[in-house]
Amino acid sequence: MKISIPRETHPGESRAPLTPHSADKLVKLGAQVEVEAGLGTAAGFPDAAYTEAGATMTSDRKALISSADIVLRLRKPPLEEIAWLKPGAIHASLLDPFNEKELVQRLAEHGVSAVSMEFIPRTTRAQSMDVLSSQANLGGYEAVILAASYSNKIFPMMTTAAGTILPSKVFIIGVGVAGLQAIATAKRLGAKVTAYDTRPVVEEQVKSLGGQFLKIDLGETGQTKEGYAKALTEEQIQKQRDAMNKTCGDSDIVITAAQVFGRKAPILVTAEMLDAMKPGSVVVDLAVETGGNVEGVVYDQVTDRKGVKIVGVANLPGRVPLHASQVYSANLVAFVSEFWDKEKKAFVLNLEDEIIKGCLVTHDGKIVNEKLITKPN
Ligand code: NAD
Repeated sequence: MKISIPRETHPGESRAPLTPHSADKLVKLGAQVEVEAGLGTAAGFPDAAYTEAGATMTSDRKALISSADIVLRLRKPPLEEIAWLKPGAIHASLLDPFNEKELVQRLAEHGVSAVSMEFIPRTTRAQSMDVLSSQANLGGYEAVILAASYSNKIFPMMTTAAGTILPSKVFIIGVGVAGLQAIATAKRLGAKVTAYDTRPVVEEQVKSLGGQFLKIDLGETGQTKEGYAKALTEEQIQKQRDAMNKTCGDSDIVITAAQVFGRKAPILVTAEMLDAMKPGSVVVDLAVETGGNVEGVVYDQVTDRKGVKIVGVANLPGRVPLHASQVYSANLVAFVSEFWDKEKKAFVLNLEDEIIKGCLVTHDGKIVNEKLITKPN
């Protein structure tokens, strides 16, 4: 079975979907692995490392894609490249399927079995394939590093002969995978951390990392069976904003990472809250790619609002592309290995399997995923 991996073409994307180490693992499964020349250059992996791992290399992108039984990528395929795929081929990548309706339709019409890596179930068995977690974890880390670099203060407390420097106060809104890593990173740098999430189960996790949990009574909030937040009512969001106003005003750094799966991110930091912040403070919006949690955030820009820096830098995992590629490609290899028949040396698309049911979006000419047929909560 041939597995092809084309180079990412999204402007500025530095991550690679496959590292040489992962190519070696696929070769050892008995797959024929072919990669496009330059696949890992931006992430720090030279072409020669892939060929040493047993992959072949080509510069003919169309031939690479059209000869594949499986195509592995990081981002969604360009629309014009769908027609290059063999009908019946498997295509696994992030697809943003709630928003990319035309793309999903075309993949279905072309007879591709398309796997949306964001739909890998959040279960223990699928943990090693969870690309949302592997990338969000690095995004959370990088958000703190960016915040520290834009801040006019240091993070830790220092007692010096010239007096005592108080620790920076960091407020983290949204404590999923990214938020938890942001808390851990800010704590390691010595900041005083407060965090908030609508899911009450998060309080214990925040405390175990040495953070303080901001309690806000919003009434019924809860979470879905997969652990995702439910969307709040407009009234609950207003109540949350009122309660967070003072904490934002007291904080040197605010990091937002609040998302609702399959929906636009809620605006949680309003202009009024930004007005309450001191000049020199920094706000990093990790939700900028799904619309942003911060009023006025500009996609992939750093802006200044009355002395408060609003950081809307996109693709934070892409700022640490070596490690982001390492974990993303490990997720892909875990996925392929789980369904690999060693004797047949082939990927078996088991339509009855819970992981495949969760992440397969098109198959046999149709859109097959329940989440695309009925919208979440
Ligand atoms: P996410 O990116 O969907 O959302 C980030 C956070 O934003 C969530 O914690 C959510 O509760 C929070 N949020 C939403 N609206 C908010 C609001 N108005 N105010 C404040 N916070 C708000 O989340 P994620 O990081 O993908 O994690 C989702 C869930 O999946 C979590 O419960 C996580 O523990 C769970 N998870 C499970 C596994 C596993 O079991 N294998 C792996 C990874 C994550």
